[in-house]
Amino acid sequence: MTKTELNKYKTLLEAKRADVVQALRNREDIAIEKAADALDEVQLAGERELAIRNLDRESHLLRSIRVALARIEEGSYGTCLHCEEEISPKRLAAVPWTSFCIKCQEAADRHEFEAQESFDAVLADAA
Ligand SMILES: [Zn+2]
Repeated sequence: MTKTELNKYKTLLEAKRADVVQALRNREDIAIEKAADALDEVQLAGERELAIRNLDRESHLLRSIRVALARIEEGSYGTCLHCEEEISPKRLAAVPWTSFCIKCQEAADRHEFEAQESFDAVLADAA
């Protein structure tokens, strides 16, 4: 991958990271507001559950973005974290925060290996 391409992805990922951080922050504010409103308990529980699910998804996304940015820094961005093959440019363009090729992503989704452990290793190195 060229330096220009890397910079493009870096800018993209940093913008996305700012978005997600903002979204996570807004959601915390909403949660506090709702609690003060004394909505009926069932509705509140439902909304809380939805908020937690969203929060969970966004936290995962944020983690993937942090891993991708760390890999840009260490020069391994664009290769699969699991099999070390190159990730297809098409896939990277669609999902710039991915650290896995499509095959390994599918394997991770089937829990054939723990993506989380690979992420932990990258983030520990970057720290
Ligand atoms: Zn792979």
